[in-house]
Amino acid sequence: MKSWVEISEQRLTANYKLLAKTAGEGTSVLAVVKANAYGHGATVCAPVLARAGAEWLGVTDVTEGAEVRAALTAAGLQPRILVMSGLLADDADAVVQYGLTPIVWSRRQMEWLAEAIGRSGSELPVAVHLEIDTGMARQGVALGEELREVLRWLGGQRRLWLDGVMTHFASAEVAGSAQTLDQQRRFEEAMREVAEAGLRPGWVHAGNSSTIDNNADAEAGSLVWLRRLAAASGARAMVRPGLGLYGYCLAIESANGVGEVAQPQVRPGLLPVMAWKSRVIGCREVGPGNTVGYNAIFVAQRAMRLALVPVGYADGLRRELSGSNAHAGGWMMVRGQQAAIVGRVSMNLTVVDVTRIADVAVGDEVVVLGDGITAEDHARLARTIAYEIVCGVRASSQLVGD
Ligand SMILES: *Cc1c(COP(=O)(O)O)cnc(C)c1O
Repeated sequence: MKSWVEISEQRLTANYKLLAKTAGEGTSVLAVVKANAYGHGATVCAPVLARAGAEWLGVTDVTEGAEVRAALTAAGLQPRILVMSGLLADDADAVVQYGLTPIVWSRRQMEWLAEAIGRSGSELPVAVHLEIDTGMARQGVALGEELREVLRWLGGQRRLWLDGVMTHFASAEVAGSAQTLDQQRRFEEAMREVAEAGLRPGWVHAGNSSTIDNNADAEAGSLVWLRRLAAASGARAMVRPGLGLYGYCLAIESANGVGEVAQPQVRPGLLPVMAWKSRVIGCREVGPGNTVGYNAIFVAQRAMRLALVPVGYADGLRRELSGSNAHAGGWMMVRGQQAAIVGRVSMNLTVVDVTRIADVAVGDEVVVLGDGITAEDHARLARTIAYEIVCGVRASSQLVGD
């Protein structure tokens, strides 16, 4: 195996518990394991999160939902599974078959589900969670006539039931965001329509990792607002962290985009869960003038010892981590020390400088991403966010104890 991902069961559990504690009593915490648990392995992480206390897990689509359901069942666990990224006609049978709960926003999607229940011969209605578009303009039903029409249709039939109503914030990491306040007002309006339609959802949910991090216990914060809104509807409140579970969280930003403001509630206590590892497959000595890798962007200025690691951009190691003489790039951890990447990161191979690290040999373990080199380090060098870095890692996961 050229590289693999080790998942710390203790850290994943601790992160879930920290997020749940900060979210506060009375707010359930759905654990988002979509996108293969942000590159960490959904079937590996889902049972750990369910054992940590998650009543709900969030997946991308019905395919991932079926895989996660199988992993949970094998572990003797039965949390509910929310399908978060859309529903097409082809997906409806799997919703019924695997006991999934889809996010829906159109009458057509609900008709597909009703037909699937008819085909299955089941007498049990299927639960759906209705997404309200409060400002993201991605998924969700629009306020006004579109929402009223969907609610009327739902109220008039028995094969589906409205188990949840939810929305998603566009600027959760912005302190005192006017956009979030605006979205909250729209969501309140949607909840009034739901009540007027005579529907009584069991769950009302909104918010992500940053919602918990950003003013979790403040009177004006989104979580206090959510708890009150859910209570007023006789429903349970729920928040949906993803990235925080895996040990990362965006910095809280000020509304005008300058500097970091507000006291983060969970960010300092989160621990990265993923250690992406590989092994040295070659070592060599080079002298002054020796060029390294494609296009010779790095030229040795002195005698150096180099180690070759069988990981590259095909595996999700960003090419922006390449190191030239003019610009230092990323690094890996070898024998607990930083080994700078020299030359271009190529498809499946990367060269690191181990001149100052004693006794490096073929077969030595290398940390590509983990303690000593975080997803935030990779993100800074690649000019992106930690989300994209961890989601991009392509290696199989295994659970490890600390
Ligand atoms: C991905 C996602 C989340 C989790 O967001 P994080 O920022 O990773 O905590 C929550 N809700 C919805 C609707 C999402 O799509």
